[in-house]
Amino acid sequence: MCGIVAYVGSQQAAPLLLEGLSRLEHRGYDSAGLAVLSGTSAGVRTAKRAGRVRDLAAALPKRFGGKVGIGHTRWATHGPANDVNAHPHTDADGRVAVVHNGIIDNAAALRPELADAGVELVSDTDTEVLAHLVARSDADTLEAKVAEALGRVDGTWGLAVVHADFPDRVVVARNGSPILVGVGSNEMYVASDLAALVRHTTTVAHLEDGEIATVTTGGFTTYRDDLTAVRRPAHELDVDAADFDPGEHESFMLKEMLELPEAAEHVLRGRLDERFGTSHLGGLNMDARDTRDISRVRVLGCGSAYYVGQMGASMIEELARIPAEAEPASEFRYRNPVIEPDTLYVAVSQSGETLDTLLAVQEIRRKGGRVIGLVNVVGSAIAREVDGGIYLHAGPEVAVASTKALTNTFLAFAMLALQLGRVRDLSIADGKRLIAGLQSVPSHLEKILAGSDEVAEVAQVLAQAESLFFIGRVRGYPVAREGAQKLKEISYRHAEAYPTSELKHGPLALISPEVPTVAVVPDDELVERNVGALHEIAARGGPLVVVTHDTVDLGGLPRDHDVRRIDVPRCERELDPILLTVPLQLLAYHASVALGLDPDKPRNLAKSVTVE
Ligand code: GLU
Repeated sequence: MCGIVAYVGSQQAAPLLLEGLSRLEHRGYDSAGLAVLSGTSAGVRTAKRAGRVRDLAAALPKRFGGKVGIGHTRWATHGPANDVNAHPHTDADGRVAVVHNGIIDNAAALRPELADAGVELVSDTDTEVLAHLVARSDADTLEAKVAEALGRVDGTWGLAVVHADFPDRVVVARNGSPILVGVGSNEMYVASDLAALVRHTTTVAHLEDGEIATVTTGGFTTYRDDLTAVRRPAHELDVDAADFDPGEHESFMLKEMLELPEAAEHVLRGRLDERFGTSHLGGLNMDARDTRDISRVRVLGCGSAYYVGQMGASMIEELARIPAEAEPASEFRYRNPVIEPDTLYVAVSQSGETLDTLLAVQEIRRKGGRVIGLVNVVGSAIAREVDGGIYLHAGPEVAVASTKALTNTFLAFAMLALQLGRVRDLSIADGKRLIAGLQSVPSHLEKILAGSDEVAEVAQVLAQAESLFFIGRVRGYPVAREGAQKLKEISYRHAEAYPTSELKHGPLALISPEVPTVAVVPDDELVERNVGALHEIAARGGPLVVVTHDTVDLGGLPRDHDVRRIDVPRCERELDPILLTVPLQLLAYHASVALGLDPDKPRNLAKSVTVE
């Protein structure tokens, strides 16, 4: 969702900015733009338009020289995606340009105020007010102008500003939306996401909320919003530019699915204790007594993070016998939740920047609750805000649809459930059984991925349906929800998930030969009931895709009935959900490809949702 890049150095900025923006394309956006400074007298040159980064590149004026510049990919929140609303936004004289990720909450109040003062606002965006506020400030330095402007606004921002009167610098600021400063040799980069930096530098500083930084060729200086200096040293990050490249694969999503087994090994490594049948999760910052004192678990996440949170909650309840539930983080703080001291709150976010989840975390902490994070991106906002956590170690995930971070989140939940269970009544034998199960997950994932071609055949057929049901029960229900979500996200088919037990209470009315059902049927204590439901669907002519274990007998479905099965390897029953989820990831991926869509860049969606 929305991207910022900036450059200060001795090279021409525009090509570098365009390249940086193209690395952020996967995050989702609707328009793109650049501003470059070419000296005090010339002012700021801008180019922006609705559409793709390549459209912007093609339309760039011939004379667009300048060694200091900012760039943006917009994900519209205020005003439609058109050329005027695209960033950068400038003041009337074209001396100030700003790019902004986030939302200025009081823009509607500031606009008439600016208009009364004679300012002509040309766009519908909330961002434009910032350009005018910076331009109208009487402060002496650009940093002070930006600080003054930010003092007048409420909301969230990742921000980059250039000003023709200060042609050696870009001033950036962060509040709720990430800003990274990348250190090159005699040149500096800024981006809202590491993906835009790694080809140039892996020496990076993360700004904290409420901070401002000046970036010049020689380096950067960070300040609090009152302009007192604060040290924010750059660190060498352990990342590989190749992780941000699909390599020989057709898409990031495919590459990332093929990495599932390796990612699973990484999250488990060093965390399983075979002797005591438990897990070691040092990052939780909780000793055995703290762990014992927990009497309830509440998981918060958005989208797929919420669905895997449901899988995690039911695993915790099953193994540790602690009441556990998941709820959408986006709803949480709006219902004025009761925060209980003996509840463990678990925030799930791949990026660690999901704003809804971050705000939920802040609400819990403000009320004195204990919250841990299941986060992939090290050092991200949620990772820094929580009392402890489990890093997912999935490696960078670029495709919008989460795959390897999702499976690793489940495995992190399994280890959490194991630890919570083993300080309670879960026996050492059960602990060891689960550890053996967890250790077998990577090889099971390999087997499922090896069946990708067969899933592709099923997907070819399903992709033709306008509307589908996904069903599952208890452990299988969040699997069905996640499967429906993936299909919706990247193939734009209408897919709805229901508990299998609810079929007769509504959805059966829609079952017909045109509406296929994807049924999640593990070989567990509910298998007979689940198979019974398949017969009810078959009796109404509904085509079936059954994701199941090879030990499951589907019974005598009508001989000519349209039923396809996808078998997954058996593991410990508590771990079934994650192995059942992977074929549904493959299904969504192949359906997207079969429809000629780009699975990495679903329309209207973004990788990390950094606005509310
Ligand atoms: N709220 C701003 C706009 O609608 C910025 C959106 C973004 O984060 O890209 O223009």
